[in-house]
Amino acid sequence: MSLALVFLGPPGAGKGTQAKTCAERHRLFHVSTGDLFRQNLREETPVGLVARGFMDRGHLVPDEVVCAMVRGCLEAEETTEGFILDGFPRTISQAEALEEDLEQLERPLTSVVSFEIDDGMLMERLTGRLTCKGCSAPFHKTFNPPQEAGVCDDCGADLYTRDDDTEPAVAARLDEYHDKTAPLLGYYETRGLLRSVDAAQPVDGVSGALERALEDR
Ligand code: ADP
Ligand code: ADP
Ligand code: ZN
Repeated sequence: MSLALVFLGPPGAGKGTQAKTCAERHRLFHVSTGDLFRQNLREETPVGLVARGFMDRGHLVPDEVVCAMVRGCLEAEETTEGFILDGFPRTISQAEALEEDLEQLERPLTSVVSFEIDDGMLMERLTGRLTCKGCSAPFHKTFNPPQEAGVCDDCGADLYTRDDDTEPAVAARLDEYHDKTAPLLGYYETRGLLRSVDAAQPVDGVSGALERALEDR
């Protein structure tokens, strides 16, 4: 049976890091809404122009914009092997829209993985994050440094610090998370889909916990 996953957790919990390797391991389609927005920003598309002001301040982009983007993505891609939604949904209204879309595509979610971690660890993870310009892979100055400084291990492109990985933008993103995204934990718990992973351990430990969580269906 193929996997249809949502990775849920605060910014910096390690969703992108785990999604990348998990998608390779299980041959899943990795959909990161943050990466899609940054691509739209670079290409100066209408979606990118709308998203910019929200992202810079660490606020969520309006639901309609995000949902339309994800819908297009899921429809266009051959998703028979399954998918990981990384950073989506982030509000109850996004979760409801997703449920409808997946019903139409006949691809109901198989599980929602909750990355559990205290806020105290997130600021250091995010302000030290380095992101690849080519493939979006996340690295960290001390916790997960690239083999060669400033260069992506996976594709060789340059690494950069995201505009929103600054203290004020991270603080705003954490507020948005607690206010609008955390209620999704109850939403998916009620539906019997929620699986928790201790995201405060080193990367390999989280990967192991994630694999065990995926076996629990
Ligand atoms: P998210 O996608 O949830 O925002 P990322 O996967 O981008 O999180 O990780 C945020 C930062 O923390 C990155 O710099 C990443 O290298 C680092 N990181 C990810 N997982 C761990 C971990 N288990 N322990 C320490 N640092 C981590
Ligand atoms: P992080 O990895 O730190 O959680 P992302 O790269 O997932 O950050 O998201 C960066 C920004 O993109 C968010 O702060 C928000 O402005 C926008 N964004 C991404 N996903 C969503 C979403 N599902 N709903 C609304 N805004 C989103
Ligand atoms: Zn890369």
